Amino acid sequence: MNKNKSERSARDKSAITNYPRLLNRYARLLELTSDMVSTLDLGTLLQHIVDAAKELTESEEASLLLYDPQTHLLYFQAATGPLDEKDKQTAVPADQSIAGWIFTHGEPLLVEDAKTDPRFFREVDVLTRFQTRSILGVPLHAKDKTLGVIEVVNKRKGTFQEMDLKLLQSLAAQAAIAIENSRLFQQSDLVAEMVHELRTPLAALTAAAHLIQRHELEVDQRNKLCRTIYGEVQRLNDMTTDFLELARLESGRVRFVREPVLLEGLIRECLEVIRPQAESESITLETEIDRSLSPVQADRNRLKQLLLNLLTNAIKYNHRGGRVRVHLHRKGDELLLTVEDTGRGIPSESLSRIFDRFYRVPDKEASVTGTGLGLAIAKRIAENHDGRIEVDSEPGRGSKFTLHLPADGSPATSPPTT
Ligand code: ADP
Repeated sequence: MNKNKSERSARDKSAITNYPRLLNRYARLLELTSDMVSTLDLGTLLQHIVDAAKELTESEEASLLLYDPQTHLLYFQAATGPLDEKDKQTAVPADQSIAGWIFTHGEPLLVEDAKTDPRFFREVDVLTRFQTRSILGVPLHAKDKTLGVIEVVNKRKGTFQEMDLKLLQSLAAQAAIAIENSRLFQQSDLVAEMVHELRTPLAALTAAAHLIQRHELEVDQRNKLCRTIYGEVQRLNDMTTDFLELARLESGRVRFVREPVLLEGLIRECLEVIRPQAESESITLETEIDRSLSPVQADRNRLKQLLLNLLTNAIKYNHRGGRVRVHLHRKGDELLLTVEDTGRGIPSESLSRIFDRFYRVPDKEASVTGTGLGLAIAKRIAENHDGRIEVDSEPGRGSKFTLHLPADGSPATSPPTT
């Protein structure tokens, strides 16, 4: 009884001495949450959240995991320590991890010593290059669902207190709303653009379908209308496929598979795909490939999609009898894959916009069909491989698109070319 009393009075005392500190931290929480709602970009927002979590709980590191309903797994989406795109592919099982426990139970959890907790998912330490001892985690609840988990960690055991838990919960409540808003905004933006873009082919289809009913039409005219209908339906089809692919890539829910890919082989495969198209336009395909290069860790199918987009454009926007040259070599820590054409080129005022979704360089003759999504998709794929695409172009003379990828392994020794 006496012991209880003295414990209580010690707690009360510590609460009183901690009071100004607690107030300061709540004041800071208000500042941080108002910063949070000022951004709608999901990546920036998630970074704000983990930075705020680390600061408020005075912890060494913080991370945020979001649940993917398709795979039923949790994925690291942001962390205060270094976290690259590859780390974001790392899944944490919902049934065998502390984050998973928090997510499935929808309750916060304070772990004094992760080393003795059977739920602790050790691979996370490997991933974060951090020796975790104490963990505090809270779920991110938005309306009727749980989006994920915020965790803060320290290298010493038993470091988190009730006060940290309360602060992290308050932060998580605001963070979950901000994440939902950002997701809704991204979707509405994309859907609005798509609907807008669908209007043109739909209008052309409506007009053609209306005209084709007229009895007085000549056979030639009727055939021409049929070709228009077929072309526009195909355009709608391409648009839907590309749009779905882009929406998936932008949602951040696509999981990139990593495997060793020999770019040389991939280039040859892509050239075979586009050869018939090139031949029908009498376009020559040339290659200059450094064969000594080591494979890159990449998602083969997606990289193929990127390269095919660049090659198709190099043919589409070329002239009859033109040339397309593919060049692969290593420069410093990067592999450079260049697709160069002798086509119409891109005016300098359009260069900064060609990677925007639905953007197409204005062309009065509308001689080339397309969706304006190919390069937006290619850019996303490059970024997911920690790479980028650069473009250089001279109107009337041609364009050069260069994919930069981080090179794995040791530098190339001899550079024989073909
Ligand atoms: P699209 O389906 O219109 O080809 P992309 O996203 O692939 O869409 O390209 C966007 C725009 O960039 C194209 O509409 C075209 O105006 C321009 N462009 C892309 N590649 C080339 C190229 N190799 N030469 C000239 N213009 C190009």
